[in-house]
Amino acid sequence: MIYFIGAGPGAVDLITVRGAEILRKAQRIIYAGSLVNPEILKVYASSECEVFDSSSLTLEEILALLIDGHNRGLVTVRLHSGDPALYGAVREQFEALRAKNIPFEIIPGVSSLFAASASLKTEYMTPELSQTLIISRLEGRTPVPERESLSSLAAHRSSLALFLSAGMLEKVCDELISGGYDKNTPAAVVYKASWPEEKILRGTLETLPEIAKDIRKSALILVGEFLSDEKFAKSRLYDKTFSHEYRNSCLHS
Ligand code: SAH
Repeated sequence: MIYFIGAGPGAVDLITVRGAEILRKAQRIIYAGSLVNPEILKVYASSECEVFDSSSLTLEEILALLIDGHNRGLVTVRLHSGDPALYGAVREQFEALRAKNIPFEIIPGVSSLFAASASLKTEYMTPELSQTLIISRLEGRTPVPERESLSSLAAHRSSLALFLSAGMLEKVCDELISGGYDKNTPAAVVYKASWPEEKILRGTLETLPEIAKDIRKSALILVGEFLSDEKFAKSRLYDKTFSHEYRNSCLHS
C-alpha cells in the first residue's frame, strides 16, 4: 500500500498518531527533504527501511519509486511537510496512481499554518476583526490566476496567510497596501514554526520587509488585525451585552 502522510510542521511530535504508526511499519519512505525534519525519520523509521530524499528527484523518479514499492508489496510512504493538501504538489502523484489503478491512502498532518498560530498564541478568526482567513501565495514559478492576485485579495482586509512567499516580502507588502490594507496593518513572519530554530518577527505591512529581510524561505507571512493585541482589547467580544446576545443566539439556533 502507498501512504501519503503529512509529517506536520517540523517538531517530531507534531505528526498524527496514525502517521507515526505507519512510519514505524514503513519499508520505503520518500520524504520531501527540503521541509520535512529528518529527525522524524530518526525517531519513527525502522533501521531496515529504505529512505529517499525527494528534493533532488523528478516527479517521474518519485512515481517510479512509489510504483515499484507497491509492486513489491512494500509498505511505501510518501512523506510531505505539514498537511499534504496545502501546496503539497500531491495531485499529480494521485492522478498518476489513479491512472494505473494503484490504491493509496492519505493521512492528514498539522499544517505549518496552525503551528504558526500556535507559536503566535493567537487565533485567525476574531469577532469584529475578521471571520475569514485567506490562504494564498505570491506568484513565483507556479502561476497564480489573475483573479487571485494579492492586490485583489487585499480588498477583503481579512486575516491572510501566505505560503512560499517569504523571499519576496517587499513585493508582498507593496501589493497588499496598494490593494487595500492600511500600511499600519500588523504583519508577522514565522520562520520554521515548531522547529528548535523557530523565529517570530513582527511589524506592520510598512515595517516588516526591513525587520524580516534576512528570512528568505521556510516561513509564513501572516497579515491582519488578528495579530494586534491592542485592537483585540478594544473588541466587544467579552463585553457583557455581546456575550449575552451570543448565548441567546446559540440557544435559539
Ligand atoms: N504542506 C505544507 C506547506 C508546503 S509549501 C504545510 O501544510 O505546511 C512550503 C511552504 O510552507 C514554505 O515555503 C513555507 O511558506 C511554509 N512552511 C512549511 N513548513 C513551515 C514551518 N515549519 N514554518 C513556517 N512555514 C512553513
